Amino acid sequence: MNISDIYSKKKPVFSLEIFPPKTDLSTESIYGVVENLAELHPDFISVTCSAGGSGGDNDKTAVIASEIQKRYGVTAMAHVTCIGSSVSAMTERAEKLSKLGVRNVLALRGDYPKDSPREEHADRDFTYASDLARALRDFGKGFCVGGACYPEIHPESRILRDGGESDLKALRAKRDAGVSFLLTQLFFDNDVFFDFLKRVRGAGITLPVSAGIMPVTNAAQIRRMVSMCGASIPSNLAALIHRFGESPDDMRKAGLDYACRQVRELLEKGADGIHLYTMNKPDAARYIYAEFMKE
Ligand code: FAD
Repeated sequence: MNISDIYSKKKPVFSLEIFPPKTDLSTESIYGVVENLAELHPDFISVTCSAGGSGGDNDKTAVIASEIQKRYGVTAMAHVTCIGSSVSAMTERAEKLSKLGVRNVLALRGDYPKDSPREEHADRDFTYASDLARALRDFGKGFCVGGACYPEIHPESRILRDGGESDLKALRAKRDAGVSFLLTQLFFDNDVFFDFLKRVRGAGITLPVSAGIMPVTNAAQIRRMVSMCGASIPSNLAALIHRFGESPDDMRKAGLDYACRQVRELLEKGADGIHLYTMNKPDAARYIYAEFMKE
């Protein structure tokens, strides 16, 4: 099913994100996780991809997305990054996705690889995610295309100090290129999300926006996430980390309850959807679903 149709029929939309097993593990090892998550009857499951090119890792993404649909009857979405891709490599990738029956794709630029300077990527076929979104639409395979957005402003845009204007420009470009829904970067402060949504709507962007929530279950994971994506830690979460950081069981419970409180408020205030970053840990997703699905 096209994810845009799910958003037009249902609010809120509940979705889950997983990542393919690391290079040395077989793809089969992910299906225990998927089986567990499928029991929650999410509206869709998305599968991340690696940032570079069209190699074996990204084939894994496509195969897993396809199997999620075939084996478990759950709508799936494949993430597709374009930063290291030529048009011909992307055409091949789109063909593969299409042959595997994967119709939903998240069009992403991807991060610059840490080991190659930005200048190496200056002259690339796809500059922005919106260029990829347009190409995916123009392939004529009937892809339903989603895009990413950043309540705390994309790290590369923060240095411009333009109050998020370039990000809004990027979102308009995504919409005009055929993106039909947006998923946010993870955030821990709901006020940041509501402010962002106000700016998005104020800019005339009416696409459904799902809020990206990551249940944090240990202090090291939070620190890693903050350094990776620059999410800020509000004082109430910092206090929990300070209090329970050294006690794994208590920190896990506190982190899950924090995520539940975030989700509750987002739903009360009418969020279009909740996208849970599961980190391939079904237990955390189950804990949160148990809170909301019983209602
Ligand atoms: P873009 O939308 O192209 O934005 C990149 C930068 O360019 C931003 O600063 C933006 O403001 C600017 N920009 C874009 N268009 C314009 C324009 N027209 N004019 C001016 N400025 C513009 N990474 C992975 O490698 N694999 C994944 O599976 C993955 N999944 C993700 C899922 C979600 C929900 C999110 C939020 C991110 C994910 N990422 C993933 C990370 C993402 O690839 C990085 O954040 C990357 O740096 C930006 O990708 P983008 O698609 O948002 O790029």
